[in-house]
Amino acid sequence: MQRIYLDNNATTIVDPKVKEAMEPFICQMYGNPNSLHSFGTETHPYMKLAFDRLYAGINASDDDDIIITSCATEGNNTVLKGIYYQIINGGKKNQVITTQVEHPCVAQSCKFLETLGADVIYLPVNRDGVVDADFLGEYIDPDRTALVSIMWANNETGLIFPIRELAALCRENGVLFHTDAVQAIGKLKVDVHEAPVDFLTFSAHKFHGMKGVGGLYIRNGVKISPLLHGGEQMGGKRAGTVNTAALIGMGLAMELASENLEYEINEVKRLRDKLEDAILTVKGTGVIGNREIRTPNTILASIKGVEGEALIWDLNKNGIAASTGSACASESLESNPTFVAMGIDNELAHTGIRLSLSRFTTENEIDIVISILTKSIERLREISFSSI
Ligand code: PLP
Repeated sequence: MQRIYLDNNATTIVDPKVKEAMEPFICQMYGNPNSLHSFGTETHPYMKLAFDRLYAGINASDDDDIIITSCATEGNNTVLKGIYYQIINGGKKNQVITTQVEHPCVAQSCKFLETLGADVIYLPVNRDGVVDADFLGEYIDPDRTALVSIMWANNETGLIFPIRELAALCRENGVLFHTDAVQAIGKLKVDVHEAPVDFLTFSAHKFHGMKGVGGLYIRNGVKISPLLHGGEQMGGKRAGTVNTAALIGMGLAMELASENLEYEINEVKRLRDKLEDAILTVKGTGVIGNREIRTPNTILASIKGVEGEALIWDLNKNGIAASTGSACASESLESNPTFVAMGIDNELAHTGIRLSLSRFTTENEIDIVISILTKSIERLREISFSSI
């Protein structure tokens, strides 16, 4: 049975070119980059190339910092806890503003900061499923707000937040701005020059690099306390020996993400729209959010009369990988704040499935998914109808 992978918001296949670029750093050039001998130093030009590619991929300037982390969860924890120890810690500026739809690694870090005495505001999203700058402006208090943390694109819906405007507003008010750009890299133009963010998090496994490696961009001059203390790696901002092979792979993955951006925005979107149109021809289906403000690869569909989980299992039996939403959040979609804000009724909310494509998805795969998915819906509806 042919297997088809449509869960690319959870993780992506490693691009074979990335795998090939990493291989020499596993068993040949395996030295610790901090060692003084040639086993260590011979890795330096390759690491420099990887950093250059990461800087170019988000248009960072040479004076800015990108620190290499073990994942985006670490990057997001570093920003939130780092800001706590740098600014909040018992001081006057003790407020953090975020949204109700952040990934659990941001949401749970914020909950932790509350236990330390920080005041966290969780903004609801609007009927378009995002937060706009006017709304954020009502909550910013330049004397009290230490940090605003808002994701660039949502992992479940794919909805894109107006990061340029949100970051510019924070800049005008002298408030630091962090964005979790995990779902944006490779799918949207991410430019830290155009969108004046102070911190930006990314994770290689979401753009065809390895799991277990990510990056945290820190604008020049912005101070943050480290999460991990130890050696002087990453200029003292993140202790621990870097995963050389994974970093080198991530650099290439970032370059390939930039090179393939047009393809993603046009061709992946065309395939996504084809699948979405086919789903919408089935009676009693809906897709969450306007497709023009969604990442080009994502569909969160709801199908009346069919349990989301039952549909996932049925698709899985037929070799198709999809999900009910975030791989990291097990709560029911019924309580999803985006669904609530967008007025999605309870029955539809209970039947969400997320289909997320990548540049490796083919038209033939989409045609197969359309055929299997529509039959699955019919079959499951018949079963639930006959069991009444
Ligand atoms: N932020 C978002 C928006 C995500 O989608 C994910 C992963 O699903 C993460 C953060 C966590 O990334 P990582 O797996 O690298 O910790």
